Amino acid sequence: MRPIILTCFAAAFYILLPAGIPAPMTRPAKALLNWSSLRHNYQIAKSRCAGGQAWAVIKANGYGHGLLGCARALSSADGFAVACMDEAVILREAGIQRPLLVLQGAYDSQEWQLASELGIELMLHHPQQWLDRQVATLVAPVAVWLKVNSGMNRLGLRPQQALALYQQVSNDPLVQPRLFASHFAEAEEVGSRSFASQLECMNQEWPLPLSLCNSAAILRADKPVDAISRPGIMLYGSSPLAGVSAVDLGLKPVMQLVSSIIAVHEVGAGEAVGYGGDWIARRDSRIGVVAMGYGDGYPRSMPAGAPVAVAGQICPLIGRVSMDMITVDLTDCPQADIGSAVELWGEQIAIDQLASLCGTISYELFCQVTARVPRITRDLPSDNNGQV
Ligand SMILES: *Cc1c(COP(=O)(O)O)cnc(C)c1O
Repeated sequence: MRPIILTCFAAAFYILLPAGIPAPMTRPAKALLNWSSLRHNYQIAKSRCAGGQAWAVIKANGYGHGLLGCARALSSADGFAVACMDEAVILREAGIQRPLLVLQGAYDSQEWQLASELGIELMLHHPQQWLDRQVATLVAPVAVWLKVNSGMNRLGLRPQQALALYQQVSNDPLVQPRLFASHFAEAEEVGSRSFASQLECMNQEWPLPLSLCNSAAILRADKPVDAISRPGIMLYGSSPLAGVSAVDLGLKPVMQLVSSIIAVHEVGAGEAVGYGGDWIARRDSRIGVVAMGYGDGYPRSMPAGAPVAVAGQICPLIGRVSMDMITVDLTDCPQADIGSAVELWGEQIAIDQLASLCGTISYELFCQVTARVPRITRDLPSDNNGQV
């Protein structure tokens, strides 16, 4: 009887919890964020820009780290770039006053109006956006960056088309052309022909300053040409360059994805562990269960053997990743027990190493950390109370 009563009591407590009181945050799966590392990495990007500006790319919820947390931590960044107007509006409504660029520009005429009301700069990458501007009522000038397709063939106008549009934009007193921008398809590939040919395409006289470089291009440029560069992934402490580690580049991890051991048990040689039973103990083994799964963003594609740091020691992942749990082999880690601290990535395990093990890139692992995982500030910026 008693457990049932207790359960009912707990359920009632949850339901009656008044709005405004934070929900309990006792699940050990958490993303700890170190904002001083973010600032350190920003300084590295900035120092590579040869006097040019560096606008921090914080699209997709700050690459999963939290849009507002990143913007507040980088309160002295030259500017911020986000993917869409919705993200820019969140920043303005939260009182972020820094220059803001929307990388995909306006989706319709209303977004042009919003941009002019909120002082947000727009990428102008397609003639349709210029048609939308013609039916928008602007209350103040909007700065635009003309996006040139230099060979990636995703967004942008061919150079001649961009120059022609520039002429038209220049005649509009409420639109201020600011820069020509372009984006690289393979900046991270050393010796890439496409990178060289995109650079070549942009190597001509432009009537405005340029913005070309993402993180990989910033880290590779020997003669920076950008008036404004656009660093993203390097800010979060991941290396964009194949074969060069974040440590080599002096970058520090911002996110540490942690949890703890919630169960420990023994299996005999020959017993299978987890869904599908495809991991079979070769010896009598001690198994730890970690509160972390693909429901938190730990990828289901992570192969057995991937490193998991338990109580400071690297242990192999075993069995399949489930929604809320993973299992690790603790046989050689006798000090580990229920409650032991676990790091999935961050300080002991490099995100780049983990990403390549499951056939993806750090960008995706960061963005996949789900809303269930609380983002906790480890190093408090002055205007933040720990919750991001
Ligand atoms: C995302 C993005 C960036 C940042 O790229 P990183 O590889 O994360 O440095 C820069 N420019 C544009 C247009 C982008 O979409």
